[in-house]
Amino acid sequence: MDNFAQLEINANFLSMKPSATLRINQKAKAAKASGKDVCHLGFGESPFPVPERVQHSLKNNSHQHSYLPSKGLIELRNAIVDYQKRHFGYNFKAENIIVGPGSKQLLFQLLTILEGEVMVPSPSWVSYKPILQMKGKKVHEIGTSIANSYKLEAENLDKKCKELGPKQKLLIMNSPSNPTGAIYTDKEVAELSQVARKNNVIIISDEIYALINYSGKAYTGFSKYYPEGTVVTNGLSKSHHMGGYRVGYAAVPESMLPLVDALESMTDASYSSVSAPIQYAAIAAFSIDTKTDKTFELCNRLHEAAGKYVYKRFLAMGLECPKPEGAYYLFPSFAPFTAKLKAKGITTSSELASRLFDDELVVVLPGTDFHCPETQLNVRVTTVDYNGDKVLEAAQKLTGEISEKFITDNCPNLVNALDRISTFLNKL
Ligand code: PLP
Repeated sequence: MDNFAQLEINANFLSMKPSATLRINQKAKAAKASGKDVCHLGFGESPFPVPERVQHSLKNNSHQHSYLPSKGLIELRNAIVDYQKRHFGYNFKAENIIVGPGSKQLLFQLLTILEGEVMVPSPSWVSYKPILQMKGKKVHEIGTSIANSYKLEAENLDKKCKELGPKQKLLIMNSPSNPTGAIYTDKEVAELSQVARKNNVIIISDEIYALINYSGKAYTGFSKYYPEGTVVTNGLSKSHHMGGYRVGYAAVPESMLPLVDALESMTDASYSSVSAPIQYAAIAAFSIDTKTDKTFELCNRLHEAAGKYVYKRFLAMGLECPKPEGAYYLFPSFAPFTAKLKAKGITTSSELASRLFDDELVVVLPGTDFHCPETQLNVRVTTVDYNGDKVLEAAQKLTGEISEKFITDNCPNLVNALDRISTFLNKL
């Protein structure tokens, strides 16, 4: 047989359709390759340089060639324990930490191992959906409102839990949120935790943006109010600008010890461990005192200034949008333009994102990929389309605050993209 005409593929994978995001990214790549001036507000990658001491540590450890324990180096897991204690007051034990190649992989493992119906707020991060599809698991989306910054409300969680019945359920929470930039307050976390405990819900708390917090308030994670029922995932991709290093971890509470063993077995049976030099470099990263490190603070202030600028521009255009408090995303609603968009044949967020690209060469991602109904006219926008090395260098010379003028002078792509979105709306 010279080809596999009858190739059999697991049905879960066959049912996975390319997302609207993927289609837009492919179009954007082709347009860029043909010399078109594309503004990309689609990529969610921190633009700043890898901390120098991490780069040194990676160089100094390039000779490390042995397989490491599948849970990760004990020195690294100890550094993660300290890091979590320092920033969030958590008390996980080193033996209950599993290091993986990015927190996304650990989310995949957790969702594979843990039984139960899975709930997410709508909107939620784009990749929870395909992870669940690969597992053949259905996801239960719980609606939110723009008036509450698209945050899950305790009574709606309670209602959904009652519908799903008494068995174990999973809830994936992400604060600060991708796609909205919203952060759950201490009170909201307390209320949601109470409902989760009452309804046999395990919370998977995706805290990958926890250190990019410019809300002015201390961060509260679910482990504060629901330590026995919360598994935390986090890593170095966002706060430490190290997405390509691929380091993340899951922290499991003492009440779920069989989960630690299952995660370890799955790691053992698949990728064995995260690569050795990267694990040594990660120790240096988790050991940085980000509370006193000036560069960390400056990067966060840049995220804040860019977020504020984009937010202000959206409101001026007549869009509705929750004010971002963390991460580097906004989730504007084009609902005020529903009638005008309909007149142009645009009734879904995929059509909206597609037309913004076709007409103005601006890449944004459609709300439908973020667990929202097709006809909800939101798009996700990132605020990081600038040269992080240069912008950071320029910001280091500032003596006062980061002004709007600093952003418009140093982040021309951002300004350009917003001008184009404004033109698009004016032409409706
Ligand atoms: N969770 C959210 C909400 C994200 O936005 C991302 C990355 O974009 C991840 C998790 C995965 O991060 P990593 O696998 O790089 O740790």
